Amino acid sequence: MSGYSKITPELGAEILRAAGPECEIADPELLEAAATDATGMVRSPELVLSLKSAVQVSALMRLANKFVFPVTPRGAGTGLAGGSLAEHGGVVLRLDEMNEIIEIDPVNLTARVQPGAVLADLKAAAAEHGLFYPPDPASLNECTVGGTAATDAGGPACVKYGTTRQYVLGLTCVLPSGEIVECGSRTRKCVVGYDLARLMVGSEGTLGVITELTLRLVPMPRAASTRVAVFDDIFKATAAVSRIMNAGVTPSAVEFIDAKCLELIRDLLPFEGVKKGSALLILEADGMPGSVAEEMDVMESAAREAGAAHMLAADDEAERAGVWDMRRRVSLRIHENAAVYVPEDVAVPLDRVAELVDRLPVFEGYHGLTVYAFGHAGDGNVHLNVTADDASKEEDVEACVTGLLEYVLELGGTISGEHGVGLAKKRFLPLELSEESVRLQREIKRVFDPNNILNPGKVF
Ligand SMILES: Cc1cc2nc3c(=O)[nH]c(=O)nc-3n(C[C@H](O)[C@H](O)[C@H](O)COP(=O)(O)OP(=O)(O)OC[C@H]3O[C@@H](n4cnc5c(N)ncnc54)[C@H](O)[C@@H]3O)c2cc1C
Repeated sequence: MSGYSKITPELGAEILRAAGPECEIADPELLEAAATDATGMVRSPELVLSLKSAVQVSALMRLANKFVFPVTPRGAGTGLAGGSLAEHGGVVLRLDEMNEIIEIDPVNLTARVQPGAVLADLKAAAAEHGLFYPPDPASLNECTVGGTAATDAGGPACVKYGTTRQYVLGLTCVLPSGEIVECGSRTRKCVVGYDLARLMVGSEGTLGVITELTLRLVPMPRAASTRVAVFDDIFKATAAVSRIMNAGVTPSAVEFIDAKCLELIRDLLPFEGVKKGSALLILEADGMPGSVAEEMDVMESAAREAGAAHMLAADDEAERAGVWDMRRRVSLRIHENAAVYVPEDVAVPLDRVAELVDRLPVFEGYHGLTVYAFGHAGDGNVHLNVTADDASKEEDVEACVTGLLEYVLELGGTISGEHGVGLAKKRFLPLELSEESVRLQREIKRVFDPNNILNPGKVF
């Protein structure tokens, strides 16, 4: 398919001579894992390698160019867009063994890490120095820092702190040509030339393989307070978001969970007395102890004025951890309970979130499906999980997803707030981007990767 060389035994042997024979993954379980990601889609590579240095990656890319075979970078495979799948076969390049946290520099508030470091480990290493690395996708205990950079991952903390892109100061990457390039800088500011570091961030492994990152850290907030606002229905809950965001303080999280999601995680809810049919907003403030209490009071008043039936306070660390554990498991529970599961992560302007969720029953009824909604309400980032209880409904799911995405664009939104396009959403790209924009982006890809060997078949 598509003019790429097959990895014949001879070519495989040549690759292993260049990269090192110990790099080949032969364990059948690991090979199976490398053929899929959190979407559940499957694409089998011809060879799986785990490399440990930029020099090895460079040697691989030079061969890939010479013999024209595809290379697909992979972190932990928690991606929700199929970005790490070998759409055209070839080599899957695992980076999870390049996992050193090279340095936490508390004087300059930076971290230097290899791409395969697990995000939670980086956050813990920063915390040991009283520092905070904010990006916090719910997959943080598994996903790699390189994967989060390649997808510009976000999470609940984005509403106050921004996404991964805001924290990448510089990075080393191996271009498809095999050249090793330093992008960005170690300084907190840099406007010399085009911003290649931030172009790499969010490029889903299509422009270069990230082999080291310099990241910005911030002081660890001294205190945090979490409350759960309970609303009678999802419309009221999401309509409250604009009011909370306009109350004069910046929350460190405004997450929502609809009634259907709530039933899936009710056993994890660390509170009693939440009625069936309710929808939740998880509100959090962080900062200095004095200001946190005051900010939380401001948010609580806004939530009550917007119709919150009652507020539940997660006062101690155990309750706070319980609330976040519950929130992080929502998508896993949805996935476990559905025969067909399509995770969309649209974003709309804050004042359109309620309109979007209000329309969901129409889509559900029309297509005979269930759509679970939860997500980062304070960013207008709504995770719409379109599910069916039997595999024969795939066509209905596709029609429902298309309709939903078109509606999101009508509302002035975007088809992906954080998971990216990858393989899963590339057919929808022309719905959102103009022909000129796609042409320009394809040309950028061609400049970096004229032979289209790095993660081909993604995004466009
Ligand atoms: C339960 C669950 C919850 C999630 N919650 C969130 C969330 O709240 N917010 C969010 O943003 N995402 C979320 N995600 C999606 C996912 O976890 C993130 O996108 C994560 O950043 C992917 O990291 P990874 O190491 O697993 O990357 P992978 O899945 O392995 O790869 C993702 C993409 O990055 C590329 N890539 C990986 N490493 C490199 C590298 N070193 N150089 C170049 N390209 C590379 C791959 O080619 C692929 O295109 C969630 C996923 C799950 C399963």
